[in-house]
Amino acid sequence: MKKVVKFGGSSLASAEQFQKVGSIIHAEEAFRRYVIPSAPGKRFGGDTKVTDLLYDCYETAVKGTDFDKKLQVIKERYQEIINGLQLDLSLDDEFDKIRELFAQGAGSNYAASRGEYLNGIIMAEYLGYEFIDAAEVIFFTENGEFDAEKTNRMLSTRLEKYDHAVIPGFYGSLPGGAIKTFSRGGSDITGSIVARAVKADLYENWTDVSGCLVTDPRIVKDPVPIEVITYRELRELAYMGASVLHDEAIFPVRREGIPINIRNTNDPSAPGTMIVESTCKKSDYTITGIAGKKGFAAINIEKDRMNSEVGFGRKVLSVFEENGISFEHIPSGIDTMSIFVHQSEFEEKEQKVLAGIRRVVDPDYLDMDSDLALIAVVGRGMRSMRGTAGRIFAALAHANINIRMIDQGSSELNIIIGVSNSDFEAAIRAIYDIFVKVRL
Ligand code: ASP
Repeated sequence: MKKVVKFGGSSLASAEQFQKVGSIIHAEEAFRRYVIPSAPGKRFGGDTKVTDLLYDCYETAVKGTDFDKKLQVIKERYQEIINGLQLDLSLDDEFDKIRELFAQGAGSNYAASRGEYLNGIIMAEYLGYEFIDAAEVIFFTENGEFDAEKTNRMLSTRLEKYDHAVIPGFYGSLPGGAIKTFSRGGSDITGSIVARAVKADLYENWTDVSGCLVTDPRIVKDPVPIEVITYRELRELAYMGASVLHDEAIFPVRREGIPINIRNTNDPSAPGTMIVESTCKKSDYTITGIAGKKGFAAINIEKDRMNSEVGFGRKVLSVFEENGISFEHIPSGIDTMSIFVHQSEFEEKEQKVLAGIRRVVDPDYLDMDSDLALIAVVGRGMRSMRGTAGRIFAALAHANINIRMIDQGSSELNIIIGVSNSDFEAAIRAIYDIFVKVRL
């Protein structure tokens, strides 16, 4: 059994958190062999992540103003951890170098990456493991794209030599050697890349929640965690706004069929959520999760005998394409068609799009709805269950919520419901209650 373990920023924000991480690793030291740390995150509400401090400090340096004080604050964050862990480690030389490179304008990617780099050095010292700089094993191409194959080759050869190692998350290097980071939250991707390279049996992603929750805890109080979710279900939920894991993090492990286990550093006995390719294990509540987003608009088109006019849909969509607007859903009737788009993206081009539609299809009627929200009810079990849609609609009717759109994907993995922005939260609560609360 070989595991790659990634720890998020809040799991490494202080010496106490480092100690929890240490116990988690030592509890299964023979398995938990490759460790990916994030930069120190928030220690309490209102605190600032080290990554944000670094971006800010670097910006000050670029302006040519004195950035020593800001750098000192960052150094103290690390020193606090080193002291708390009673390590015999000095980061003085590292900070001298960082200071020098900030002054020379080494770039904001370099600046941000130091958060994980320094935390990696501390982690390696604390655990007594080999430290491997991610710049030596994670590669990007000339145009800044992640170079998956080169990375996989070099990383697996390098890691073969070590039973245990610490590889900082979030960054790698460009062909010339300059540092490049992934997008924010990118240490999740590094963990996944390392798991693929060592052909791990499991990628454990340790954070501060006990796994993925059925829905957003800001909308429903203490939603239940999801025990098992497939990659596809997770993608659907993530696309609609649920966030536990970086979107890109599933791809490297998915190629190798390695499951991801989301775990809670503050509650290590909780089993968390398993993210798998496929499973015959049914969801406990028929549905797996509910997520949604506000801020959509719908363009409604009516024209007599629309259905018999070959090419009608293509002509309408070409107008959106020409204006660089992607659409989300296209529910249609015999003589009607609606196009759902992101309102913010659409607003600037609104008049051009309407004029374009008039020009290409000459509709009888054209109007718009704005301030709509889309809710995705996702579940692999819906396919073989009768009445799921019926229960959703009944729940919304009882909650006095008007449904503006319904779309069931052909995979039957999700049902998308459009409601007014103002009904968004109530709709999610009603759906959660009918599937989950009644069973608790
Ligand atoms: N430290 C980086 C961030 O705050 C990357 C990460 O934590 O995954 O985005």
